[in-house]
Amino acid sequence: MADPVVIQCAITGSIDADPGRRPNLPATPEAIVADALAAWRAGAAVVHLHAREPDGTPTQDREAYRGLVDALHDAGCEAIINLSCGSAGGRAVRDERLGPLELAPEMASFDCGSINFREQLFEGDLPFLRRMAEKFRAFAVRPEVECFDTGHVGLALQLRDEGLLDEPMVMQFVLGVPGSGVPANVAMVEHLRRMIPPDWPWSVCAIGRAQLPLNAYCILAGGHVRTGLEDNLWFRRGEAASNGALVERVVRIAAELDRPVATPAEARTILGLPG
Ligand code: ZN
Repeated sequence: MADPVVIQCAITGSIDADPGRRPNLPATPEAIVADALAAWRAGAAVVHLHAREPDGTPTQDREAYRGLVDALHDAGCEAIINLSCGSAGGRAVRDERLGPLELAPEMASFDCGSINFREQLFEGDLPFLRRMAEKFRAFAVRPEVECFDTGHVGLALQLRDEGLLDEPMVMQFVLGVPGSGVPANVAMVEHLRRMIPPDWPWSVCAIGRAQLPLNAYCILAGGHVRTGLEDNLWFRRGEAASNGALVERVVRIAAELDRPVATPAEARTILGLPG
């Protein structure tokens, strides 16, 4: 039997809430919690969260994240909670991004370098990466190392060599971000995974229409899967998706490909979380 596949659902991201253009994107704290619960019930072992103000504005405010985490725990959610250390759409820079770590979530995203992200520069200089690694360690948060390009994998290996990130790392290859110039295709996935030791868990976050084929490829190739509306708003051409429906589809594909879906407890073992 193949190793279980960990399904992660990225619920909302930090793109502008625009109910006219994106009516399916959860844009209030209540909607984010409802979608995270739906994703967990559909089979997601990890829910990746970005916080928003009640009016839908993305925020890195620690207390906004606390509201989401508390609501999920109160609802009995067993999924691993993976909080964003991103920029809330450019509203937070460098250390301002790290407030969610103070809640000591099981996991959080560790964006391992700088990149052109849509129209903006997303900054991750090396001194900041070192401070970020120290803060992850101080709050005992497992980093999900997000690599948007090959050089980010190299930086992750450098931080390991400096003793700041522990092996095995949990790797998330983020491909096809508009503005980054990095394509979301199998050749890029294979190049990136060959840069890391074979025993590290890895997954691919592919943007837009690349999400579905690379979800399927990761299941086949022994990786893990990230789906969700943060990365792709469409179920198929012309049909808006929901987080629950995207997870359900990955569960069906995994069943057809004979790959069991990891429970949250199994995912904790696979991802090296204490549980
Ligand atoms: Zn995210």
